[in-house]
Amino acid sequence: MIKRRKTRPVYVGNVKIGDDAPVVVQSMTDTKTHNIEETLSQINRLHEAGCEIVRVAAPTEKDAKALPEIVKNSPIPVIADIHFSPRIAFLALESGIHGIRLNPGNISDEGKIKEILQECKKKNIAVRLGINSGSLEERLLEKYGYPTAEALAESALYWSEFFEKVGFTNFKVSIKGSDVLQNIQANKIFAEKTDIPLHIGITEAGPSGKGSIKSAVGIGILLYMGIGDTVRVSLTADPVEEVKVAYQILQSLGLRRRGIEIISCPTCGRIEVNLPEVVKKVEEKLEGETLPIKVAIMGCVVNAIGEAREADIGLACGNRSALLFKEGQPIKRVSEDEMVDQLLKEIKKMKESGKYG
Ligand code: SF4
Repeated sequence: MIKRRKTRPVYVGNVKIGDDAPVVVQSMTDTKTHNIEETLSQINRLHEAGCEIVRVAAPTEKDAKALPEIVKNSPIPVIADIHFSPRIAFLALESGIHGIRLNPGNISDEGKIKEILQECKKKNIAVRLGINSGSLEERLLEKYGYPTAEALAESALYWSEFFEKVGFTNFKVSIKGSDVLQNIQANKIFAEKTDIPLHIGITEAGPSGKGSIKSAVGIGILLYMGIGDTVRVSLTADPVEEVKVAYQILQSLGLRRRGIEIISCPTCGRIEVNLPEVVKKVEEKLEGETLPIKVAIMGCVVNAIGEAREADIGLACGNRSALLFKEGQPIKRVSEDEMVDQLLKEIKKMKESGKYG
């Protein structure tokens, strides 16, 4: 069991972050925010995939002006991503937005940041204080020479203290760099010194395959250390993919369960059915299924009986056939041709029973 770091609660709209809340899954749209229809359509797809908070970019006035319509129609809380411009931050704060992300590295005017925070407090809007290795303050770059983990943590601590000094506490912090070790170290230093919730992720992780692995390592290690109250997997891909990968990471660590978890063997010379084909068909048919069950699809008797028994449902394959297990018991023998249909039929029954949530 992972012992999560004790953090104070922060609310983004109706979503609780930190304290006893589960690790929250976030993503970010990649549409032009001023294209309201496309942005809302993507937010709805993200919501269906399990995204619980969504961030949208607000680089221009035109984007900020689209926020009221987006916020009004979004099924999940929306955070506006603000860089460089206090003017756009103030526009966003008038939109009904649930949260804003501020990067003090590029709004260096402390007076303006204070004004933004006062307005957030008045309107009960949460803030994500975002520290990025690519936009660290000049004074820290001079002190450390480059954005080290210590420099990133120092920046996060400095601004957190600043936020608190001006009386603002409804915020979480993100400290992100694209280097996994630097990222882990910076978050660890910060986590040891405060109880402020942390949003974690590896920024600019890359394309889907490599980026998912990099994210799983970086985010996974932090989560294992108990650090992380919200996560975002940053991929150069459809953001829906980010949400799926985030849940896979959380599911692997037993922190969240959403949808089917397939346990299948890598196959070897003992195999006597076309297991990759069976797994592929099952995966395709169960795409988007939210029933939180474990499905084992195993190639031969070596591990099959045990795995199929431990899962909620499973196929223990053998000679062109399989034993279908349900809740630990073998219920029937099925031929290779019918195994996918029979498995899906039983899963449908499990769903209809309402027993699995
Ligand atoms: Fe090989 Fe059987 Fe193990 Fe699958 S379960 S990898 S077929 S030994």
